[in-house]
Amino acid sequence: MTSDPHVLLEKGAPEALEVTEAAREAEWHHPSFIGELFMGRLRTDLIIPYPEQPDEDRQIGDAFLATLEAFLRKRIDPDEIDRTGEIPAEVLQGLAKLGCFGMKIPKAYGGLGLSQTNYNRAICLLGSYCGSTTVWLSAHQSIGAPQPLMLFGTEEQKRKYLPRLAQGTISAFALTEPDVGSDPANMLTIAAPTKDGAAYLLTGEKLWCTNGPVAEVVVVMARTPSVAVGGRERKQITAFIVEKSMPGFEVVHRCEFMGLKGIQNGVLRFTNIRVPKENILWGPGLGLKLALVTLNAGRIAIPAGCVGTAKRCLQSTRAWAKERKQWGGPIGKHEAVAVKIGDMAATTIAMDAMVWLASAMVDRKTTDIRLEAAMAKLFCSEACWRIVDDTVQIRGGRGYETARSLRARGEAALPVERIMRDSRINLIIEGTSDIMRLFIAREALDAHMRAVADLLNPRTPPPAKAKTALAAALRYALWYPQQWLSWSGWPKHQALGPRLGGHLRFIERTSHRLALALFHAAMRHQMRLAYRQQLLGRLVDIGGDLFAMAAACAKAHAMVRLQPSEQSPVELADLFCRLAKRRIALAFAQLHRNDDRTSYRMAQDVLNGRMAWLEEGIV
Ligand SMILES: Cc1cc2nc3c(=O)[nH]c(=O)nc-3n(C[C@H](O)[C@H](O)[C@H](O)COP(=O)(O)OP(=O)(O)OC[C@H]3O[C@@H](n4cnc5c(N)ncnc54)[C@H](O)[C@@H]3O)c2cc1C
Repeated sequence: MTSDPHVLLEKGAPEALEVTEAAREAEWHHPSFIGELFMGRLRTDLIIPYPEQPDEDRQIGDAFLATLEAFLRKRIDPDEIDRTGEIPAEVLQGLAKLGCFGMKIPKAYGGLGLSQTNYNRAICLLGSYCGSTTVWLSAHQSIGAPQPLMLFGTEEQKRKYLPRLAQGTISAFALTEPDVGSDPANMLTIAAPTKDGAAYLLTGEKLWCTNGPVAEVVVVMARTPSVAVGGRERKQITAFIVEKSMPGFEVVHRCEFMGLKGIQNGVLRFTNIRVPKENILWGPGLGLKLALVTLNAGRIAIPAGCVGTAKRCLQSTRAWAKERKQWGGPIGKHEAVAVKIGDMAATTIAMDAMVWLASAMVDRKTTDIRLEAAMAKLFCSEACWRIVDDTVQIRGGRGYETARSLRARGEAALPVERIMRDSRINLIIEGTSDIMRLFIAREALDAHMRAVADLLNPRTPPPAKAKTALAAALRYALWYPQQWLSWSGWPKHQALGPRLGGHLRFIERTSHRLALALFHAAMRHQMRLAYRQQLLGRLVDIGGDLFAMAAACAKAHAMVRLQPSEQSPVELADLFCRLAKRRIALAFAQLHRNDDRTSYRMAQDVLNGRMAWLEEGIV
């Protein structure tokens, strides 16, 4: 038996990887800024000039946001929702009347037809105010029925469902099961075709389905009969539109969480529900792919909400750090607090720049955004959590006190405690941070994988292998020296000015270094690279910081061009880049000098109970 625990894991994982691999989008129809970055190419043409929202679209967004903001201020009390665990029915009706359940649904189907940018602006506004309301609306529209229907529904399905959904019929998305979280290969919910082939009988249980307890329409992922591919059985996952009115649909439990007290989230049970075959979305066996594609654009709503939360934290911190005086002055003058505030503001401009860049990319449809959306989700959810944590710290004891208690004592009811509880989930839903790193790494490696896939496949016949080897040798004979020899020094990018231009040159140089590190890792570990998660994670984090730097520089440049007298965007982007460069240097150093193996082995010892003595003396 092997002593390397990674190898043990590899033996149990291939099927899960195979199912996910079969479901991923294989083609790249458009370039991806991040994809190119991981290949050592800084495509400034994809981000500079930083996309301006077209005037007409901006006006539509401004008008809608003004109405939404007025409604939020007048009709929604987030702390009351947090206390009671309910959003009043009349509030939901009011939101429906404003068109909030059909923000992204095209006008032709009764929705508002907002662009991704305007939808995300609404989610940002909501995210700054009430986490529960944000989740009600975004679970319905970012992952619930409208998004997959718009992407993959037949005209008939669209006509049947979208107008209802736009008017406020709630929808949900049901993938997770008690034993199926990040890895859907072992899904137990099954849909067996009826003898006449007209329908499927759906049986199973879904966990943590947001909006599930109140949804009329649920997109459900279920296993349908496997098919043979190349002489081997391939599991099939299919997406079905299921209606609450169908016999056999049951809400078993409403879940309660640390935060987001006002959401409706629950366990759904399906017992032999007869679902007509017309309710299949896209096609049999395409369910997992549908889920992944839906999440590509849907996922940007989370970072948009995070930007709203971060801005709210910045606003609260600014007021408090000036007002609160300790040890002879405002706490914002003490270095330990001030540095946190500077970091918070610099990180917020990077998050903001990333989100509106990715949103514009979705609207323009000229770039592949799967990496940008995933990176924005990963970066912004983690950055937001650090910002929220710093905000609580800077508020001191008041950061830990509920808004209700603060109000009762006659103090300003800043809901920092609720914001912390509400925002932790962003690092878990729609792909945990660990899974996002693996997803991004897989997509980043795609160009290399394609070049050598046939070589690594034991079933490739020798002539095909020889052909691939020759093509790969030619390709890398050009690509490899380019990474070492390309000029990325002065005067490149000087149009952005000395500070931002310098940062862009760093990004370009580092993208070569990143591409080489990725290439060397792939050559060294080959198929086992998938299990070197710390190594991949560091490379992904470097890519994330480079993307954030590029977005921040592009946005700051655009802002100062419009208003040259105001240099603060450049100063903020500059600070962000300096901080990011330090993280990047550390991550590169840790690629080769780290304690990963020792930590891994220690973890296995801990799991085996060898260190159980350490747990003595507790309740
Ligand atoms: C409030 C809330 C709302 C939700 N809404 C929905 C919804 O509407 N629809 C829906 O279908 N689901 C929903 N979910 C489920 C959510 O998407 C899952 O919780 C999430 O995908 C993670 O799955 P899991 O909790 O089973 O964690 P697991 O998959 O069990 O993972 C546990 C931990 O192990 C890590 N991990 C797992 N596999 C690996 C790996 N290969 N490598 C490294 N680390 C790994 C994870 O990162 C995580 O830290 C919701 C959950 C919550 C709490």
